[in-house]
Amino acid sequence: MNDQSNKRLDPNRNRWMSEPATQSVMRALHADGGEARFVGGAVRNALLGEPVGDVDIATSLTPDEVMARLTRAGLGAVPTGIAHGTVTAVCNGKPFEVTTLRRDVETDGRHAVIAFATDWREDAARRDFTINALYADENGTITDYFGGLQDLAARRVRFVGDPRLRIREDYLRILRLFRFHAWYGTGEIDEAALAASAAGKSGLQRLSGERVQKELLRLLEAKDPMAVLRAMQDSGILAELLPGDSQLQRLARLIAIENANAIAPDAPLRLAALLPDGGVVARVLAGRLKLSNALRGRIVEATEKDDRIAASLDEADARKLLYRLGTERFRDCVLLQWAAAGADAGDVAWRRLLRLAEDWTAPIFTLDGNDVMALGFEEGQEVGVLLREIEQRWVAGDFAAGRPQLLEWLAHAAKKPRG
Ligand code: ATP
Ligand code: MG
Repeated sequence: MNDQSNKRLDPNRNRWMSEPATQSVMRALHADGGEARFVGGAVRNALLGEPVGDVDIATSLTPDEVMARLTRAGLGAVPTGIAHGTVTAVCNGKPFEVTTLRRDVETDGRHAVIAFATDWREDAARRDFTINALYADENGTITDYFGGLQDLAARRVRFVGDPRLRIREDYLRILRLFRFHAWYGTGEIDEAALAASAAGKSGLQRLSGERVQKELLRLLEAKDPMAVLRAMQDSGILAELLPGDSQLQRLARLIAIENANAIAPDAPLRLAALLPDGGVVARVLAGRLKLSNALRGRIVEATEKDDRIAASLDEADARKLLYRLGTERFRDCVLLQWAAAGADAGDVAWRRLLRLAEDWTAPIFTLDGNDVMALGFEEGQEVGVLLREIEQRWVAGDFAAGRPQLLEWLAHAAKKPRG
């Protein structure tokens, strides 16, 4: 009914369409009457004039046929998710996800049993939002089955079909609603979608930690996710996701600090800003969301804070602390504690600490175990103890001592009787 094609994407003005890698993949799929169209984020973002990341392609060909055609054309073909219909085409090192048209046969709120289909409208109907269900052929002609172009123009994030049904099929769509609204929406969240999300919020518990992690971090990476997070809090959805009392106020301040100091959105740090202090909640959440050890460590350390960091810290003490904590942890703590202190986003004292973390390169401690063993020590604990003693003295002296001085201190310390 709404199969309008009144808007085109000009391949000459969209490099991702006209570049040789894309052309080769599309040509291979088109050989012998196959049909292939761009879909999802690439089409949506190109229509909005926003940067295009991954390019997804939908096709009427079966996955086996996709594999065969790509191989015949001399392109890379990786069966990444062939059971779900996805083959990754690779050309000049660039990947393209090529997915066969699908239809849902069965859904349980987290996984779907799908069947391959040949109908484009059916494929569009199982996608989440109208703005994500737009197709563009290789000439840029758009196919829009559900009013996605109008919604895109109005920056409206609207489910394809009945929001309650669509959420019951896959509860992750609750998070995707907030994510896409934060990135591309304006004004209020679609009323029916918000109500359906609130009603289905307990279903979030059934999702895997990995899926929730990915969506939550993408949401927090939006330029300004505050309005969406407040809606999530008011509807009880945030409490389903994050244990403890969420610190929305602190996150709002962190974002103001980022904006005033040309800092790009950093999802893990923003997540830490939302969590209560102390590291306990961060550990629980890290387990739930299956965070990597690196992310878990970073978020736990940031929420544990470091009381030595304060606006009053003088430059030399700040350098010592920066050396001991490492740049990332020091910077994270500065930003979070700045936000928690409620100081102005242009505050000179805090800004100085931030610049220090960005500009200062820690000097290298030039002694190692060999220097100690050269004095007759056996390999073992004592070597480390001596090294640390000298390093501390070096740090305390603001890193001024050069290697000859360090060796002298070492020789002297080595002669001291040790217990
Ligand atoms: P971006 O890649 O910029 O984050 P995207 O729209 O490409 O945005 P993806 O998560 O990469 O988002 O998904 C690609 C497309 O697959 C979506 O545009 C949508 O059409 C469909 N899709 C993805 N996840 C779901 C889901 N849970 N339910 C329904 N459709 C989905
Ligand atoms: Mg994508």
